[in-house]
Amino acid sequence: MKIVIVGNNVAGTFTAQNIRYLNNDVVIEIFTQENYPYYTRVNLPELISAKVTIDDLIVFKDDWYKNKNLKLNLNKKVIKIDPENKAIYIEGENDPVSYDKLILALGSAPNIPPIKSALEMKIGKKGVFTLRSIDDALEIRDYIKKFAVEKAIVIGGGLLGLELANQIKNYNLETTVVEFFPRLLPRQLDEECGTMLREEIESRGIKVVLDAATEEILGNGRVTGIKLKDGQTLDADIILIQAGIRPTIDLAKESNIHTNRGIVVNEFLETSEKDVYAVGDCIEYKNQIWGIIPACMEQSKIVAASALGLKKVDYKGTTPKNTLKIVGLELTSIGIIDPTKEEGAGWEILKKADKKDCCYQKLVLKESKLKGAILFGDSKAMSYVYNKMEQAVEKEELRKLLELYIYICSNCGKEYDEAKMDVLFKNLPKDFKCSECGAPKDGFKIKE
Ligand SMILES: Cc1cc2nc3c(=O)[nH]c(=O)nc-3n(C[C@H](O)[C@H](O)[C@H](O)COP(=O)(O)OP(=O)(O)OC[C@H]3O[C@@H](n4cnc5c(N)ncnc54)[C@H](O)[C@@H]3O)c2cc1C
Repeated sequence: MKIVIVGNNVAGTFTAQNIRYLNNDVVIEIFTQENYPYYTRVNLPELISAKVTIDDLIVFKDDWYKNKNLKLNLNKKVIKIDPENKAIYIEGENDPVSYDKLILALGSAPNIPPIKSALEMKIGKKGVFTLRSIDDALEIRDYIKKFAVEKAIVIGGGLLGLELANQIKNYNLETTVVEFFPRLLPRQLDEECGTMLREEIESRGIKVVLDAATEEILGNGRVTGIKLKDGQTLDADIILIQAGIRPTIDLAKESNIHTNRGIVVNEFLETSEKDVYAVGDCIEYKNQIWGIIPACMEQSKIVAASALGLKKVDYKGTTPKNTLKIVGLELTSIGIIDPTKEEGAGWEILKKADKKDCCYQKLVLKESKLKGAILFGDSKAMSYVYNKMEQAVEKEELRKLLELYIYICSNCGKEYDEAKMDVLFKNLPKDFKCSECGAPKDGFKIKE
């Protein structure tokens, strides 16, 4: 049997590895339009600032493919699928490549919002860029050097936008992040933590403009700035757009494979076409798309088994997990972080907000099961949260985990429960007095 995989990043590579783990005999051939074996995209922003080299990013070198007996074809763009004759066509080549099973691991591409001149200036290489590949990172680095860029605007205050802004800042560029929503990381944070993050980002010398819809990219020959919907203009010599992703669907769509936002798959990652599967950023399952590595990894196990005819496990979706990777800034968001947007009753929140120490921890429960968390500025609870997601947890255990205490007035017994208050006891003003009997702050003790 011959399995052909199109796409050689996380999803394609780990699918190949998992197939080989289950079966030593099948022929596995991988095609990618890129020029590199599997590399991680996670550290691409650091390639711009030359903190890492291309070699540092490459995860599996040629030997790895040889040892696993995987045939890797670089620089081969697949332009057509012929499901009826079980074949694919490569750009510039006449002969089709046949398959018994085809796995589409086509990934996604950066989304470009409908901003006037954005697409034209990106295609024309006039100072508008997105970051997805090694080649993108090198182009951005060259442009910064060639034109002695001094001011950068990053459109998009999500994880990638902030990581990119942080690296660009390392180049000593005057850097501004422009976000459409009224807070940073709108999908991963609530308002309170979004505000704390903004302060932290600004303290690193990065300007943040929120609630700002970019209307137009300005400049004739090269970029000179942006114009916002409210008429305000901001100067820049380079614009980096990091405004979400779009699953790559065209190849599947043109071959009449069912697509919507992504390539539509069932619980075994089968597409609408027999013996054609899809995995990774390019898929849509139950109206959801993911765009994160843990989802690719989980799906790659399922699709490997499916393609080998061993439908052991069905896909149930992946809990979103996101970590902001900025040195000295710890932030992880996992699962459901804002129950007000969810249906049904029984939601509970346990929260510790320490504005003085820039630390915010929020745990979201439903019927005593852990459903999500925000951990900002303190990652002590991280492994606990990862291990206990979707499991029943004891409230007392969580209080200990977050170091939330009940303070009790030694004079009248009045309690100050940190879990229910906005301000931690230690951050109350020195002249705080018991609301019941007027005893001073140091008249309170931790309740045993
Ligand atoms: C800068 C950056 C940082 C990131 N950081 C994180 C992180 O910290 N944590 C996290 O979970 N996720 C992160 N991500 C997202 C993560 O990289 C993606 O979820 C992951 O790469 C998706 O893997 P994939 O294999 O599905 O698709 P992709 O990585 O998009 O790979 C698909 C491959 O298929 C190739 N291809 C597409 N069409 C064709 C064709 N017709 N013919 C041949 N080849 C084709 C593409 O060129 C590409 O090489 C980051 C992404 C970026 C860009």
